[in-house]
Formats: sequence, structure tokens, C-alpha cells
Amino acid sequence: MIRLVIAVDGYSSCGKSTFAKAIAKELNHLYIDSGAMCRAVTLYGIRNSIVDKQEIQTDKLIEVLDSIEIDFKKNDGDVYETYLNGENIENEIRGVMVSECVSNVSKIREVRSKLVILQRGFARNKGVVMDGRDIGTVVFPDADMKIFMTAKPEIRAKRRFDELTEKGLHVDFQEIMKNIEERDIIDSTRKESPLRKADDAIVLDNSYMTPDEQMIWFKNIISKHLAK
Ligand code: C5P
Repeated sequence: MIRLVIAVDGYSSCGKSTFAKAIAKELNHLYIDSGAMCRAVTLYGIRNSIVDKQEIQTDKLIEVLDSIEIDFKKNDGDVYETYLNGENIENEIRGVMVSECVSNVSKIREVRSKLVILQRGFARNKGVVMDGRDIGTVVFPDADMKIFMTAKPEIRAKRRFDELTEKGLHVDFQEIMKNIEERDIIDSTRKESPLRKADDAIVLDNSYMTPDEQMIWFKNIISKHLAK
């Protein structure tokens, strides 16, 4: 049985999690959504009035970091969901409020250090596909395979819009577009672990690709990798 560490990085809402989940299933590997971990910390901050759109009380957030436990558990449908201190928060962390605050929370060095330790722990036994922004550059610089995903901003916004609308949430397309563009800027210009393509990452622009086409692309890449 192969046990790899695969890093999937890229811009917001370009289908990283759908793709990473699918390849994890294909390889029978664990899938870890590192963005969900950032979102969990953000939700904890919001609930405890430490984080809001206007301001983050950085010192207070750093103080409470040890009280934040994040885990992933499989639900009945065999899908991993995010838990914060034992509570399933999978849906709540996808909401607009968390999305608006998460990139500023993720800029904080101490938050990143905590998450990197947890993320490396999940990959102790290898056999992991992890998606995020800094997985191939910082978390697993020696990953067996690194994929950098991108897609046109308006296509990403449309996908996010459809995803949230399907969940029954009432959202505004322009607001989603603005949020995606803002997060791209914050994520790629921040001082701590900015979003960038690792030098040895393979680029996947999926603007005009279906999930099935992305899987064919991946199967081609992985068979070449395993044949090395
Ligand atoms: O992947 P997702 O869009 O859910 O991530 C939410 C936010 O979490 C990103 O916009 C980014 O600010 C932050 N993030 C990060 N590092 C990661 C994953 C996500 O800073 N590895």
C-alpha cells in the first residue's frame, strides 16, 4: 500500500477541497482541510468576542489558543467533519462571518505555529492529502507531491455562490467575489507563510475542468510519480 504526503495549495474557492478529498479517496489516504482549522480558530475567537470584522484582539487570542482543540471525525457518509472542543462546527465555519475574519486571524504567527504542529501530527504515519495555502512551502516542504491549484476569480466566486446557495444560505454574488479577492490579497501578501507556489509544485488551473477531468489529470500525474 502506498502512503504519501500530498500537499494541495492554492487560492480561495478554487475547488481544492473537492479535489483533495477525491484524490485522498482514490489513494485511501486521510484528507485534512487546513483551512477548516483556521476557520475553527476564527469561530472560537468570534464566539468569545475576541474576533470581529473590525478588530482582532491578538494578545487575547494568543492567550486562549491552548483552549482550542481541533479534530476531524468521519460522519455517516464517510466524510470528515471539523470539530472544535468536541462540537461539530462543519457548517458554522463556512458562513460569511467566519469567511470575512479568517484571513486576518490566519496572519497571526502564533496561530500558524499552533496549526503547523497539529497538521504535522496528522501526517505522522504519512498517507495524508492536506489542502491549504502553505502546505507545500511550510508545513511539508518535503511532501511527496505538491499541487498548486488556481482558477479565474469570477469562476471561483460562482462556485462558492452555488455551494452556499445549495446549502440554503442567502448570499450576494458581489460580496462573495469581494471576499475572495480580499482573501487572495491578504493570503498572498502576509508576512507569515504567504500563499505562493512551491518551486517544485505542479500547477493545476481548473477554470474549465470538471471534477472528473481533474481526476484524470491526477491519475496521469500520480502514475508518472509512482513509476519514478
Ligand atoms: O481553504 P479555506 O478557504 O477554507 O481557508 C480559509 C482561510 O484560511 C484562507 O483564506 C486563509 O486565510 C487561511 N488559511 C491559511 N493557511 C492554510 C489554510 C487556510 O492561512 N494552510
